[in-house]
Amino acid sequence: MSVFNLRLESVRRKSGGRIHLTPKVPRSGPVTTLCGQTLAAASYVAVEQDADCTNCKRRSMDPSRISGAFFAQEEGSQLLQLSLEQARARRPAGKAAPSSSKPIVRVLPPQAPAVPDRIGELYTNGFKAAGEGLWRSQAGVLVRMRKQGREWRFAELVFDGSIVATRQDGGMKLRAGDVEVRPTQDGFEVRVRRT
Ligand SMILES: [Zn+2]
Repeated sequence: MSVFNLRLESVRRKSGGRIHLTPKVPRSGPVTTLCGQTLAAASYVAVEQDADCTNCKRRSMDPSRISGAFFAQEEGSQLLQLSLEQARARRPAGKAAPSSSKPIVRVLPPQAPAVPDRIGELYTNGFKAAGEGLWRSQAGVLVRMRKQGREWRFAELVFDGSIVATRQDGGMKLRAGDVEVRPTQDGFEVRVRRT
């Protein structure tokens, strides 16, 4: 028996609407979502967010549906083929191939998108995302960033604890809990202090 560990991908119409799931977002051509909709070629984009289509989410819990969706899609079955070959390559020589009937597809939770080291004026190391433009440090310092043009800039810091503000050339340095906000030439930099 072969077991495949695969992830589903999120896809959305360019015109907006719900985020759906599909085995693999193809580079071109139409795509069929788990909830059975066919999105025409060039009308959709792959997105990183989690799906919010109720039908897609429900069907993603059903292994037989998932297998079917992978097999029904060219890109999906290519993925399965690839996993199968990798599994064969890993199998020690001399061992008989498992008596396979129908392969099982196990769907892994979507991979969290990697957080870049720096988002505008904020160094993300030590922070956890707490919402759109909102970051929380381990000590509970809440930092709100605001998008100005294409750049995320420091907007607000909230902390119920010890804060030290120090005058510096051209501005003020702020230490709140484990977070430090320092002035730079054209703004601020926000980071978690290393102890
Ligand atoms: Zn859907």
